[in-house]
Amino acid sequence: MSISDNIKSLKNELDTVNVTLVAVSKTKPATDIEEAYQAGQRIFGENQVQELVEKYEQLPKDIEWHLVGHLQTNKVKYIAPFISLIHSVDSLKLLEEINKQAEKNKRVIDCLLQVYIADEETKYGLGFDEVIELLRSDEFAALKNVRIRGLMGIATNTDSEKQIKEEFYELDTFFDGITQSFFRKEDSFDILSMGMSGDYKIAVEQGSTMVRLGSTIFGERVVKHFKNN
Ligand SMILES: *Cc1c(COP(=O)(O)O)cnc(C)c1O
Repeated sequence: MSISDNIKSLKNELDTVNVTLVAVSKTKPATDIEEAYQAGQRIFGENQVQELVEKYEQLPKDIEWHLVGHLQTNKVKYIAPFISLIHSVDSLKLLEEINKQAEKNKRVIDCLLQVYIADEETKYGLGFDEVIELLRSDEFAALKNVRIRGLMGIATNTDSEKQIKEEFYELDTFFDGITQSFFRKEDSFDILSMGMSGDYKIAVEQGSTMVRLGSTIFGERVVKHFKNN
């Protein structure tokens, strides 16, 4: 199957359930992105700021770029002029910097709060209690150039479908609670970003509205190995 075929069949599958596809193109060349673009895909996700900026400069300007990976405060300024959605906000400090850079660019930047749901030490994200604390804070209330569109979560990398299902279920339930408590009057709080190539079908069953797929579309990524000897 070509990239183009993959995009078309995923779109068919996801459109029927109203789920948005983010094509995660990290490590892949611009030519691969162009092929997906020709097949109608307009939303692409990257996890590194430098790579994202390079691809933004090279590729058509009607692409919506999403940042899906961890974002360092000092790099926000590079993406602030054009980024469509930041999936990985994991602190108030980061959100304040995004707000500051958005203001400089006379924009309002859409963001998701990344919630920690996995049973792994390596994943970033806020705990459920930290999300609530952030949304309740006066500091957050003062931010006028960011808009929280929803939540993002990454499930544990495991073969246990049961565990993945439980993690996504918890996030979906939390999303509903947060919607009721903090965003009842805001229709724009409508994105639940969960599901990657290995687990997106489970995520969709559990209420995902946006999936982030890389290898399913573009094939496996080449992993760089570093040797000391
Ligand atoms: C790489 C990445 C993806 C896509 O991963 P695949 O397993 O290739 O679909 C999704 N989300 C995030 C945060 C990623 O870093």
